[in-house]
Amino acid sequence: MVSATDALARLREGNLRFAANTQSNDRTLATRPAEVADGQEPFAIILGCSDSRVPAEIVFDQGLGDLFVIRVAGNVVAPSQIGSVEFAATKFGTRLVVVLGHSQCGAIEETLNQLQVPSDNRSRNLRSIVDFVRPSIESLLAQGLGEDPEALVKQAVRANVRASAEHMRHGSDILEELERDEGLVIVGAEYSLETGLVDFFDGVP
Ligand SMILES: [Zn+2]
Repeated sequence: MVSATDALARLREGNLRFAANTQSNDRTLATRPAEVADGQEPFAIILGCSDSRVPAEIVFDQGLGDLFVIRVAGNVVAPSQIGSVEFAATKFGTRLVVVLGHSQCGAIEETLNQLQVPSDNRSRNLRSIVDFVRPSIESLLAQGLGEDPEALVKQAVRANVRASAEHMRHGSDILEELERDEGLVIVGAEYSLETGLVDFFDGVP
């Protein structure tokens, strides 16, 4: 079993390789599927955004069998996401969970638009994503950040990651128990579309 601390170090190293364009590709070779066909032991669980520019395996320079990835627009935490994390943490013994947001996130921008110019013609399903993001952003607007749109989006991305990580930490008895007794760690991070670098800014031990 890979500890949360070691897992975090592997992600940091992989992201630095990616950002420096010095990837090591041996774990994505065509021989790899057969090597992992009999079982998996992913060393980290990533809850990331569906944005096409933030594929977890690529930005962390990892291969087949390394990461258990859940992606949903806005990296929001609904019951099915918590269930997926519970599954991986209990079944594979994975000890690190990363909530990975990113700069210029469309789900965050959409939520801001809806808060500023509400419209009724959205799909109920899309609205459910906006509703998950909304509370953390409303509190930023209440602090008067609405004056500076660029700063608002930046802060909103991080506030949403913090809220998702916090929800993950306290939304499940199973995960709480693993955190308390088994070394599970849930951290929040932001990927920069501009630099390719990931900043782990929340809950890092
Ligand atoms: Zn996004």
